[in-house]
Amino acid sequence: MELRLYDTLTREKRPFVPLDPRNVRMYVCGPTVYDFAHIGNARPVIVFDVLFRLLRHAYGEAHVKYVRNITDVDDKINDRAARDFPGLPLNEAIRKVTEETGKQFHADVDALGCLRPSVEPRATEHIAEMREIIEKLIAGGFAYAAEDHVLFSPQAMNAANAGLPRYGALSNRSLDEMIAGARVDVAPYKKGNTDFVLWKPSKPGEPSWPSPAGINAEGRPGWHIECSAMAWKHLGEHFDIHGGGIDLVFPHHENEVAQTCCAFHQERMANYWMHNGFLQVESEKMSKSLGNFITIHELLEDWPGEVLRLNMLKTHYRSPIDWTLKSVEESARTLDDWYRVAADVVPGEPAASVVEPLLDDLNTPLAIAALHGLRGEAAALAGSLRLLGFLSESAAQWESRKQRASGVDAAEVERLLAERTAARARKDFKESDRIRDLLAGMGVAIKDSKDGTTWEVAR
Ligand code: AMP
Ligand code: ZN
Repeated sequence: MELRLYDTLTREKRPFVPLDPRNVRMYVCGPTVYDFAHIGNARPVIVFDVLFRLLRHAYGEAHVKYVRNITDVDDKINDRAARDFPGLPLNEAIRKVTEETGKQFHADVDALGCLRPSVEPRATEHIAEMREIIEKLIAGGFAYAAEDHVLFSPQAMNAANAGLPRYGALSNRSLDEMIAGARVDVAPYKKGNTDFVLWKPSKPGEPSWPSPAGINAEGRPGWHIECSAMAWKHLGEHFDIHGGGIDLVFPHHENEVAQTCCAFHQERMANYWMHNGFLQVESEKMSKSLGNFITIHELLEDWPGEVLRLNMLKTHYRSPIDWTLKSVEESARTLDDWYRVAADVVPGEPAASVVEPLLDDLNTPLAIAALHGLRGEAAALAGSLRLLGFLSESAAQWESRKQRASGVDAAEVERLLAERTAARARKDFKESDRIRDLLAGMGVAIKDSKDGTTWEVAR
């Protein structure tokens, strides 16, 4: 069983060789908790959940550690807290915003069939580790304090050059070009125009923590240092896989690598960098101003989470995805069928025709095509679907959820069916056809067989 993964850093697909097969380690950047997560945010969550499940399948459940952080310190959180809870002290309001948003995020991703990661660290619980890394960076000459800020210098990193990666290697950019293209009106405390913030002063009333040595005022961390600190704490200085959306490659991941590698004097932070492509909606970029911004929460009012999950996985994770209603409807019909065939069957081993494409850089579209081919092998279909995080309900639960969602009253349907059976018994086919049409109008499809009549909500 050989897993191959595409690495953003080396821009090639390579066999995956874990540093320690008894402790395979993956870090994925998680949400900033200030608002409902949108369907684009669901993409990395679902994609890396599939990878987590595949790694557990390949190396054993006890041998995979998946860390996905929660960013609970951020300007957007502060703004939202001040807006939504103007009467509360800011820190209390922030706690409310992060707690409520965090809970909603969990409810959403649970419904999408995603396993909880092994650890979900919160940034605010890792300030000491951030301070420690920052102090190492200052001591090593990679960072400096100025006007109560601490800045990281990519130029210092590339000048040092001893056993370190090159700044810009991950995002395939040249530091000289970045310097040439940077804004001229840089903040006065920056020595170089590409220097980025590791630590900054807090405004009065904002959350604040004791600063790294050498800075008197209290302050708060920059964004990038959070992930370096949480990954270090839970996975060590060097681990296997680091993931996130493609928008995070620069500057977030470039800066994470820089911080971690300079602090620990090493050439690598993660051995494989994986990035999911972007999601757009009905061929348009999703944005609040275009009015096509859809939250996971809203979608879950109309669709089972597994339908959204399947719809996401029909596209390869590195390709852009166009999220359309038509495609979601088709995914719902597919799952209805698979639930009927496989949900109540004792699952067998996942089929090789499904596992093999997954091992090839998570080729989920090909795996799904193979699932369609397994309709005649219910046990293999069931085992394969479960590997991918489907079939969390029984066939009856699935059907009754569909009935509830469609507003169909099952008792009323049963009553009409009994009337229709009686009409057929007395050969009143006009009446039995009338009832069939009535049911069809309610969205109910019926099927007669020698064992009687069954019905379901048609999608
Ligand atoms: P954010 O809360 O914006 O930092 O995003 C959380 C995660 O969702 C990151 O991994 C982003 O790369 C990812 N993400 C945000 N928007 C989209 C999108 N439209 N399509 C795919 N991934 C996205
Ligand atoms: Zn991150």
